[in-house]
Amino acid sequence: MNEFDLIGRYFARPARRALLGVGDDCALLAPPPAGEVLAVSVDMLVEGRHFFAGVDPHTLGHKALAVNLSDLAAMGAKPSWFTLALALPRADEGWLAAFADGLFALADASGIELVGGDTTRGPLTISIQVAGHVPAGGALCRDGAKAGDDVWVSGRLGAAAMAVRHRAGELALPVEVLARCAERLDRPAPRLALGERLRSHASAALDVSDGLVGDLAHICEQSRLAAEIDWTCVPVDPALQDMPEPLRQRAALAGGDDYELCFTAAPAERDAIAAISAELALPLTRIGAMRAGTGVTVRDASGRLLDLGRGGFDHFSSP
Ligand code: ADP
Ligand code: MG
Repeated sequence: MNEFDLIGRYFARPARRALLGVGDDCALLAPPPAGEVLAVSVDMLVEGRHFFAGVDPHTLGHKALAVNLSDLAAMGAKPSWFTLALALPRADEGWLAAFADGLFALADASGIELVGGDTTRGPLTISIQVAGHVPAGGALCRDGAKAGDDVWVSGRLGAAAMAVRHRAGELALPVEVLARCAERLDRPAPRLALGERLRSHASAALDVSDGLVGDLAHICEQSRLAAEIDWTCVPVDPALQDMPEPLRQRAALAGGDDYELCFTAAPAERDAIAAISAELALPLTRIGAMRAGTGVTVRDASGRLLDLGRGGFDHFSSP
């Protein structure tokens, strides 16, 4: 199978919304409708760095797209197109078929279309660029939080980080706990509907990919404010309920890979946000507030400050 057979067999599908999709030198895409702008993001997944060697290819196809869709969700954008740059050590047909299945299942469910890419031999690396539309001036940026805003987070945190620690051999989770945690790590659900619904209610948002505290610090920096979090309000995944508190704190506050949305909103928005939570059947939890100052602080049940170190995962500070 040569490169063109591979592309034709697994990645070329007839263009639907694009004017021209996979197969020519460029894709041809119509600009967004009047009053909307393009939201564009790219993420790279490297074997051994972002996922474990030998991970199930169907899962990987899902996850590679999901982490990018999560960025669109965090801006409040509606997905439209994506491109896929793939470095493969070899052309393994079973692997490619499963990877493409996982990828396209999520693409179809999310209304996003693959319009092009690049394929080369090399260490397994998947780079996806996504594009979406968002009303001009309506995107959920990181710099919009105001002092007095509430801090919210979607879903429940910490399970994905526990699966990472299990797979890295740092601890051994019971079978049922591992199943739940691995599902959260392997098949994150990008919060696209939430992002779109939050556009008229949230003041700032981002997706939690590197850990809640480290990610929220970006909203603090860009909005020039501090965030105060109440640990007792943080929604920890029920799979972690029997674990010691320090482990739960580290996973929920500083563990990565949750792909939930963290956002800020004025207190006047509480009822509207509760209604969105009910409508989407997705927990939305108020965990703290934005204040004058800098940085993120977290207080435990007795009011003591938790020491979180750097609080997030940084690719260049870890060994
Ligand atoms: P070029 O030589 O212009 O870079 P390629 O030979 O790399 O073109 O790719 C041929 C066509 O296949 C292009 O339309 C490109 O966008 C598409 N393509 C290549 N790899 C992928 C992929 N992994 N997924 C989707 N489309 C791809
Ligand atoms: Mg090429």
